[in-house]
Amino acid sequence: MSFASEAKKEITQKKIAKPCCLRAACYGIACFAKYFDARGIVLQTELSFVAQYAQKMFGRCGVAGTVEEIARTGGAVYEFAVKAPEEVEKLHTLFGTTGREPSLQIDPRLLICQGCMAAYIAAAFLCSGTVTDPSKEYNLEILTPRTNLAKDFEALLAEHEFAPHRTRRKGVNLVYVKASGHVEDLLTFMGASSASLRLMDQKVYKSLRNQTNRRTNCDTANLSKTANANAGTLRAIQYLHEENALAALPETLRQAAEKREQYPDLALAELAQQFTPAISKSGLSHRLKKLEAVAEQMKQRKEQAAEHV
Ligand SMILES: [Zn+2]
Repeated sequence: MSFASEAKKEITQKKIAKPCCLRAACYGIACFAKYFDARGIVLQTELSFVAQYAQKMFGRCGVAGTVEEIARTGGAVYEFAVKAPEEVEKLHTLFGTTGREPSLQIDPRLLICQGCMAAYIAAAFLCSGTVTDPSKEYNLEILTPRTNLAKDFEALLAEHEFAPHRTRRKGVNLVYVKASGHVEDLLTFMGASSASLRLMDQKVYKSLRNQTNRRTNCDTANLSKTANANAGTLRAIQYLHEENALAALPETLRQAAEKREQYPDLALAELAQQFTPAISKSGLSHRLKKLEAVAEQMKQRKEQAAEHV
């Protein structure tokens, strides 16, 4: 089961006791269903338990609906519907609607308490929302073709400080929450606390992994320190070349200079391996430092000579 389906499953298992909150859950289902008008309600979902949840919630409010499985090539779709005229009438009485409203907007009179808000938002998420697996990214979104409803829904989330955003994608309105803390809070608010905990676990895991990455970056920094050290030696060797000083140096130093020029990027230990017979790392280090010292002495002597002219 995907992370989103698990979160939805958890929400449908949450108990709703107060009549006002029950009605708010049904209202959320109606608003985010495929249609909700004078014909009644049709909700289509790929999750059978969401369709059953809708049927149960409406049943508890005294409105009888049907659940049907519709076979499709991409997998079955479950349809919850209230179509019988006497049930459609009860439905509109429940919400105080007619089904002939020009545009669907959230009626604040149907959201009385905090529980109502949570039930309504959770129902919207159940019917047309999704949440990305937190191992990939943090994103919770709800889709609706109804623009005024999307605006109201965004305002509702903003009121509860979930920092929502709204956009349009392929003619559909998208209300989404991206910051991990807000996705966490929203999941908890809707009743999916386990999903919220899983998200927090992922965050801890990611932050540990980032720390490891930072450490790796430090290793890379050490590598470039090596490169800088090598560059110092190479500059010294270059200077000795320019001054035709290498030939006058002992064989061991000339050899060290040659190898360093041949393998400019190798770390000291590896460079030491390039000698036949191999020499010790400290032995090589000593020779390279000697080369730098010789170059430095020559430079100073030249400068002093120049000052005396
Ligand atoms: Zn309530």
